[in-house]
Amino acid sequence: MQTSQPFRTPIFRLLTIGAAGLCSFIIGLWGLRYGMGDQIGGLPAEVIGAIIASLCALAAAGSSMSFFAGVDESAEYVFRETQFDKLTGLHSRAAMIGKISEAAVATSRTGEPVYLIDIDIDRFKHINDSIGDQHGDELLRLFAERLKGNLPEGIEIGRIGAGQFCVLLPDGATPLALDELVEQLIELMMKPYQLKTHLQSISISVGIVAMPKDGDDPIILLRRSNLALQQARSLGVASWAVFHPDMGLVAEQRQWIESELHSAFKRGDFELHYQPQLDLSNQRIVGYEALIRWRHPTRGMIAPMDFIPIAEETGMIVPIGEWVLRKACTDAHMLPEDCFVAVNISPVQFMTKDFMAMVRTILNETRVMPQKLELEVTETAMMQDRERAAKILEELSEMGISVAVDDFGTGYSNLSYLIDFSFQKLKIDRSFIARMEQDSNSGAVVSTIVGLSRALGVHTIAEGVETESQATLLRAAGCEVVQGYFYGRPEPLVINHIPAEQKQVANLH
Ligand code: C2E
Ligand code: CA
Ligand code: CA
Repeated sequence: MQTSQPFRTPIFRLLTIGAAGLCSFIIGLWGLRYGMGDQIGGLPAEVIGAIIASLCALAAAGSSMSFFAGVDESAEYVFRETQFDKLTGLHSRAAMIGKISEAAVATSRTGEPVYLIDIDIDRFKHINDSIGDQHGDELLRLFAERLKGNLPEGIEIGRIGAGQFCVLLPDGATPLALDELVEQLIELMMKPYQLKTHLQSISISVGIVAMPKDGDDPIILLRRSNLALQQARSLGVASWAVFHPDMGLVAEQRQWIESELHSAFKRGDFELHYQPQLDLSNQRIVGYEALIRWRHPTRGMIAPMDFIPIAEETGMIVPIGEWVLRKACTDAHMLPEDCFVAVNISPVQFMTKDFMAMVRTILNETRVMPQKLELEVTETAMMQDRERAAKILEELSEMGISVAVDDFGTGYSNLSYLIDFSFQKLKIDRSFIARMEQDSNSGAVVSTIVGLSRALGVHTIAEGVETESQATLLRAAGCEVVQGYFYGRPEPLVINHIPAEQKQVANLH
């Protein structure tokens, strides 16, 4: 659909109003000038006055009509601009949201399902970039025409994204079942398109939500059809999928966390809990691992595994990790003299340019002795850029900060690279400890790791120790330090001045 600018532009309207006003003014002057006499041109002064008044009224009426017509035209212009997609003549995204809203109201009254079908040209941006905007537009126009031609009359169709279209299909609008219709549509829409210069092939993916079953809010419905669409795309070319609440739960929770992390950080939702690490030979606590906790004001506790990966993807882990280190170092002053604090360092944080500067600043600020700090770094972090990682580990070691290789055994486990790195401890992943009692292989792995650390001259710690028999097996394997629910769960720090002899007590309270 071709849309044009309003005929009466604001300048045009000002001019007409101005001209009308000026005319009235001149006529008025003329009236004053000649109206004083008894007669003008043989007409009595009253008649002249009436003529002048009517002319003024006519001019004013003309100018206001012009003004209001202009307003109407502008409103219509805005309507055309926002309700229709210029390129294809289909409904715009804004209009489609309105149509979905109307359909949702109708379907909740009648109970007759309406399907919202989200049709996306796969990798449209890539196609557009490679064939150029002009041919991309041509493709979209042909696609829209074909889509319209293959759907029953009167169906609402919109273009809601660059290569993304949306159809509102009432149940029973076609004699076909939904799955037959969608499959037929996919086949038809994927036939190549004859552009002016060449034949263009495309593939499409389709996501479907059903109203009223899947909701009545147009924005949520569109988000859900999009989730189904993403699912379809992950199934391969020419696939379609119907929305299922599970798809939403995961994605919505994820989206919520992503949007909430920043304010959580500013609000101060985060806190640290501490889990003791004990020397197996004498049961004394030698250190505490700091574990982050997110206490959301309305949603309560959110587990680190649910938000750390998202914080890593969005980069929020950098300020959060810095906060963790600063807080743990501050708290370290409250720990018994001979206990250290172990802080988890995310691979993303480890690879930041100023990681070492951050560590140094925090140590200076908090006046913590480097010996009181241990950093838990995963194999993954070390393997990203081995040269740089080796350099950082070297610097940490020169500063006197101990490094534990966290989750050992789950990553690359390429033991040969360990020789290049400077670290003081291997932390055996809890998956091995959990299987130790049933699976003799896991026991063998633990013994091998202990043997390896001895050869490398580093210490070993086992995490996730939950039972006494695991502790016994670990002691037999030669493991030195243990951590796990059997000895104490992560808890807030309330251990101010624990007498040395009580440090063996697992429960911190
Ligand atoms: P992780 O570094 O492997 O931390 C140990 C996890 O095991 C903790 O889970 C701890 O509560 C849990 N755990 C301890 N003892 C036992 C046990 O006996 N049995 C079982 N089943 N689990 C035990 P949490 O606190 O949920 O933390 C999960 C992960 O989140 C951590 O795994 C770590 O990767 C990450 N994380 C936690 N705090 C931080 C942090 O401050 N910074 C970064 N970057 N990551 C953190
Ligand atoms: Ca850890
Ligand atoms: Ca671990």
